[in-house]
Formats: sequence, structure tokens, C-alpha cells
Amino acid sequence: MMDNSFRFRELLTAGRIRVRDGEIFRQSPPELRDGFDFSRVEGMLLGLAIGNALGNTTESQSPRARYEQHGEIRDYLRHPYYGDARGYPSDDTQLAFWTLEQALEDGGFDPASLARRFARRRIFGIGNTVRQFQFNYGAGKPWERCGVPSAGNGALMRIAPILVPHLRYPSPALWADAALCTMITHNDSMAVASSVAFVAVLWDLLTMDEAPELGSLGPGGAARHRAGTSTVARAATGSDWRIRWPARWPSGSAAAPPA
Ligand SMILES: [Mg+2]
Repeated sequence: MMDNSFRFRELLTAGRIRVRDGEIFRQSPPELRDGFDFSRVEGMLLGLAIGNALGNTTESQSPRARYEQHGEIRDYLRHPYYGDARGYPSDDTQLAFWTLEQALEDGGFDPASLARRFARRRIFGIGNTVRQFQFNYGAGKPWERCGVPSAGNGALMRIAPILVPHLRYPSPALWADAALCTMITHNDSMAVASSVAFVAVLWDLLTMDEAPELGSLGPGGAARHRAGTSTVARAATGSDWRIRWPARWPSGSAAAPPA
């Protein structure tokens, strides 16, 4: 399988990728146990598409405004463009599944090949950063110079499939891929570090026996949760990492607005 660690190291040394070096980039994610259920990966990817379609119709609303208008959203809302209440995914799902498609076709993540796909295809609900990336690519810049210094969530939302080529043989190359995949569009330290941390969280979730209870995480619950996460997730997020949970978070609901 292709290993982008050297490429990542080169870009890091040259100051081309906007992220600081850290221990995480030398650590292997934990091995998946024998008999790992690969349908979980399918679930993760379908979850991405379904979550995208559920949120698509209220994108960019504040949690409070969304809750006041719709309560907790548990089904698809009427789509303002298509007019019916079905699951219409958008850019999040497109970009994520093109990432998967690229890895399957090329036998691993290849940033140049993925950048080409992102640059040339029609994207629904495209954000400013990805639009600027496409402009840069169209102007003839090499892929590693097309990423925009933006800390938007447009790379985080599509990053999940980056762990797929690493499932059988986990190595530190996973973090290099997460970082490079992010910088294609979002060359920003917050965006890159967030992607690496999120991939670590997803990897942890794949290894868990049961889903963690989000509703049980109140003040103090975050610390309990943190104590249960792997060294990899902690390394990715740093020692002074805190989840800032709202002061009042109604138990049992993951979708309630911040108090
Ligand atoms: Mg979107």
C-alpha cells in the first residue's frame, strides 16, 4: 500500500503544510482485534451520508434556532429545492465518497489523484473554501499549493474514509494521510489538527464494544469520557484539551440546543 509518510515529512519540513509536528505522527493506532466486524466501517460511512442528509436542510442554522423551529430532527425535512422530504446528501457525502473511490481505485490515498477529482467535479452545496481550492487548481497550481488557510469544517466533514486503507495494517501513516487529505482544501493548523483528532476518535469508536452514551456526558462526564479514550486520541488533542460542554445539557438528548 502506498505510504505518504515521507511526503508528509517533506511538506512539514518545508513549512508547506500548516500544522506543527507532534508525537501523534509517530504513533500507530491500536490494532483492531481478530474478528473485527468490518460492517462497522460500512455503518460509519452510511452514517456520514445519512447525517449529511438529515442536516442538509438546516445547515448553518444555530443549534438554538434549529431546535426552536424543528425540535430534535429525527427524519428528513422537506428539501427547499426538490420539494420533498427525502434524504438528499450534499458536498459532505460527495467529497467523502470520492475519497473512498480514489483509495479503492489507486490502492491507497493519493493526494494528487484526489485533488484532481475535487477540482473537476460538480459539488452540491459547495463552500467558499472548496470553491477557492477549485479556482487555485484551475489556475494550474500543484495540489499542495491549492489548499486555503481556512479553519472551516469542510475537510473534517469528509475525512472519515481516510482510515479505510489502514484498517488491516495500522501504522503512523494514517495520521500523515489525515493531514495531507485535509490540506488539499484546508491548509490550516486548526483544520489539520482537528481532522487528525477526529480520525483518532473514529478509530477508537470502531474498537469499542458499545456506543458511548453522549447523554451521560454532563459537566464532569467529559473528564470521565476522556479517561476512557485511548492514548492516541489524547495525543492528538493535547494535554490541555477540554470539551466545553454546555452548562445545562438535557440528559438523553444529543440534539438539544446549548443552554
Ligand atoms: Mg455540506
